[in-house]
This record gives sequence, C-alpha cells and structure tokens, in this order.
Amino acid sequence: MTNDCLFCKIIKGEIPSNKIYEDDYAYAFLDINPSTEGHTLIIPKKHYKNITDIPAEDLSNFMQSLQKVAKGLLQFGNGLNIIQNNGETAGQLVFHLHFHLIPRREADGVSIGHWESKKNLDMNKIQENIKSLLNQ
Ligand code: 5GP
Ligand code: ZN
Repeated sequence: MTNDCLFCKIIKGEIPSNKIYEDDYAYAFLDINPSTEGHTLIIPKKHYKNITDIPAEDLSNFMQSLQKVAKGLLQFGNGLNIIQNNGETAGQLVFHLHFHLIPRREADGVSIGHWESKKNLDMNKIQENIKSLLNQ
C-alpha cells in the first residue's frame, strides 16, 4: 500500500468503488469511465507499479483471481478483451498494476486490437534485438 495511490485508497475503502470481487490477492471494480457495460479493473491487493514489478508468486495468485472474474464477465457479455498498460507511452494513467477486463457484445461500437500493420520492418534485426534483451 502507498498513501498517495488512488487504487490503494480504493482497496482501503477511502475512495468508493463498485466492487464486483475481492479475495486475498485481488480487488475488482467497475471502471469509472467504462468503454462497455461491465468494463472492470482488477488490481493486486499489494501495490506494484506495473507488470515487471510484481513477484512471480504474487502474479500467479493474482492471475487465478483474474481468471475467475474473467469467467463471469465472459458470460456477462459474449466476448472479453483484456488490456494492461505499462508506462505513460502505453497509456498508463494510474501507476498501480491493473488489468482492464472489457466485456464485448455484437456491434458494441468499440474498436480494440485492430491496427494498420507496419510495412518494411527488418524482422530479423528486431528479433535479435528483443532476444538479446530477454537474455540480460
Ligand atoms: P490506465 O489508463 O492507467 O490503464 O487506466 C486507468 C483507468 O482507471 C481508467 O480507465 C480510468 O477510467 C480508471 N479510473 C481512474 N480513476 C478512477 C476512480 O477513481 N475510480 C474508478 N472506478 N476508476 C478510475
Ligand atoms: Zn497502489
């Protein structure tokens, strides 16, 4: 927990939220600016900034909670997008690790996961660069 973190305050009940699920590892609540009906945020109970911050065991426990909530939301809609932003460049606004669970329905007008593909990239060079970073 950190005192100045919005999501830590939500977990502690200092800021109200529409909670849909809570266990020892995770807290899930409706996003205040929903992209679809049921747009949910799920956060670990402990404060971590992003996906690289959380220890493997905590992540494993948290993911089991996430899967439980995802199962419910998949029935609430008839599709589900899961999005997790890391860093300002990627659109992260709140620096407490969170996953967006976005229930989808036919013709809901939301566009997620579609992009214009980049042409003429040097795939072999990119592959080698990324592989060397993973081996650090
Ligand atoms: P990010 O852009 O960091 O991935 O997403 C942050 C999300 O938190 C946004 O979708 C935003 O609507 C949501 N959010 C920000 N403040 C609050 C709040 O006080 N309550 C709730 N329920 N959601 C919030
Ligand atoms: Zn926090």
